[in-house]
Amino acid sequence: MILFNDLRPQHQRMRQEILDVLARVVDSGWFILGKQVEAFEHEFADYCSARFGIGVGSGTEALHLGLLACGVQPGDEVITVAFTAVPTVTAITLAGATPVFVDIDPVTFTMDPSQVENRIGPRTKVILPVHLYGHPADLDPLLAIARRHGLRILEDAAQAHGARYRGRPIGSIGDLTAFSFYPTKNLGACGDAGLVTTNDPELADRLRLLRNYGQRNRYLHEVPGANSRLDELQAAVLRAKLPKLDYWNAERRKRAERYRTMLQTVGLPGEQSWAHHVWHLYVIRSLHRDALQQHLTARGISTLIHYPIPVHLQPAYRHLGVQPGTLPNTERLAREILSLPLYPELPLDQVAYIAEQVNAFESDRE
Ligand SMILES: *Cc1c(COP(=O)(O)O)cnc(C)c1O
Repeated sequence: MILFNDLRPQHQRMRQEILDVLARVVDSGWFILGKQVEAFEHEFADYCSARFGIGVGSGTEALHLGLLACGVQPGDEVITVAFTAVPTVTAITLAGATPVFVDIDPVTFTMDPSQVENRIGPRTKVILPVHLYGHPADLDPLLAIARRHGLRILEDAAQAHGARYRGRPIGSIGDLTAFSFYPTKNLGACGDAGLVTTNDPELADRLRLLRNYGQRNRYLHEVPGANSRLDELQAAVLRAKLPKLDYWNAERRKRAERYRTMLQTVGLPGEQSWAHHVWHLYVIRSLHRDALQQHLTARGISTLIHYPIPVHLQPAYRHLGVQPGTLPNTERLAREILSLPLYPELPLDQVAYIAEQVNAFESDRE
């Protein structure tokens, strides 16, 4: 069976290095908000060309606290997409706000900027685009809209470590950018972890309070806040891994390129001229998606669908009353997409085998 993803080769190669850094943290006896977190915050912010990095407990928490730092209050609205991982929207509801969904551009799978302006209302506070699958959303028009209406841009970059927009690193562009280090992301911890980048010292200060019970100094609490901290063990692992991120992204790119040259008839994911894609996922489109998935399973190839049910059609969000048919690109693509195996250590002969099996299925259909 060809696995969809396999985290073992990466960790086998780094096994001793990871065990050594973990041992050093254990020996230090310091586990929360210490030297490892501080160093990783600087190193990751530098990697993104951002001024500040604030480590938090997960990607969801990076988004949630990012919204609170923007001053989002219960009843406020946040404009986002339904074509995303559900936690993008979990973060909005955690902040007490209401998600307002706009459709996606069917080429980039990301927020269609032309849909945003007429969804802005008196309670809109934030625009939250998602750099889905590792391809950046088209940020310039979103930044212009935000400026015109006095809104903040919070980016969901959980799948886009190392991506670039018009040459600028993701993490250095909007007001705030949220990253996840869930183990399967392009940069993954050995557990849950997240981080927010920003160039704004006030937002950075607010985030540092929010993640730590709203505490300014010991026992002086300025805002209600939360407990959501990146811990020393995860930060130490992430510091060991960060220098390898560009190499891993290049290995992903090599496999995406191999798919592109070999796959013949299906809808292939593209890369806009203004984008540097980091290929968190390789997502093709087929009008016979379910049959294609079965065909591949029968030939020993695991695939997944990211994501089969758009957020506005999930039971948890039915109360928002967004009717089926409201987001046509989102709903159509959810029926056509299929994620093929892609990870930095995926053997290239397996990529070739997968592409051959997809081609065989599609040519039988013609
Ligand atoms: C993984 C992911 C999240 C959530 O990150 P966690 O660290 O699992 O909380 C949010 N948004 C997107 C697009 C993701 O892929």
